[in-house]
Amino acid sequence: MIDYEKQSLKLIETAEKLLSDNTVDVVLGVKDNPEVGWPTPYFARKPEDAKKLVWTEDCHVNLANYLTEVKGKKAAIAAKACDVRSIINLIAENQLSRGDITIIGMECAGKMQNEKLASACDACPASVPNLYDIAIAADGSETYKNLEMPNSSENVTEWAIHTTVEERLDRFMKEIDKCILCFACRQACQGCYCVTCFIDRKATPWEQVDADTATKMAFHLTRAMHLAGRCTDCGACEKVCPSGVNLKYLFKGLSEFVEETYDFKAGMDPEATPVLDRYSSDDKQVAFLGGDSIVGI
Ligand code: SF4
Ligand code: SF4
Repeated sequence: MIDYEKQSLKLIETAEKLLSDNTVDVVLGVKDNPEVGWPTPYFARKPEDAKKLVWTEDCHVNLANYLTEVKGKKAAIAAKACDVRSIINLIAENQLSRGDITIIGMECAGKMQNEKLASACDACPASVPNLYDIAIAADGSETYKNLEMPNSSENVTEWAIHTTVEERLDRFMKEIDKCILCFACRQACQGCYCVTCFIDRKATPWEQVDADTATKMAFHLTRAMHLAGRCTDCGACEKVCPSGVNLKYLFKGLSEFVEETYDFKAGMDPEATPVLDRYSSDDKQVAFLGGDSIVGI
């Protein structure tokens, strides 16, 4: 059970202190936004700004991305376990410096979006972040309660083993059929930080990418491959999608494959070399999602 009022009060007190004693230049959190329907990102830069911060059952936004907006500054961030995995991935990929960041680890047992458990919260392994500097527990104290998590998400590898190619294609096509290529999923993703995305490379700034099936397939499959071993299962891509496209299973399937094949999970260790940066002559050479083995080629 989470006491959001106590967590909010503790967060405000913590942010005021960090800003007053100049430990940080900015505290990143969320503030109420009735127009949107859930709290949205907020940068508190002065001690008096801190009172605008809130912590609620529907503050599901992954704030890790926003740290790159204040790169080079000393920043604190109110972070759930999923945000922290994203921060760790960004540190491991040299996008953020650990020394610049104060992580205020907010205990979380899952967030709500439109009265349902938000995307990816069913997959979260722990209520407690795996890296933090200041703890704010479920009851607002400094001692985490280690709450029980739903941990009931789909095992995509199992699903893939027990389905035909046609069934897998059917699921993918049904999802991309809803896509309008707005790219909100990309913008919300901690791993999509390229200045120019591959899909925009040939487009002039005023040109709308056509939402035809081939382009949608190219975008989603290429993005999935780019996120292999980098997706932190935060669910931000599904949370922001205006069309209800559920494609996180692709990323999850890739993460399961990378973990099983290369014993690596993104977002666990800021010191670990990202899996796509490691090469070894005895790397396993196997295909993804039940394809034929290509060992020996
Ligand atoms: S947010 Fe949804 S509609 Fe927009 S590009 Fe991504 S999947 Fe397509
Ligand atoms: S692909 Fe989706 S779930 Fe994975 S890190 Fe990006 S936004 Fe999060």
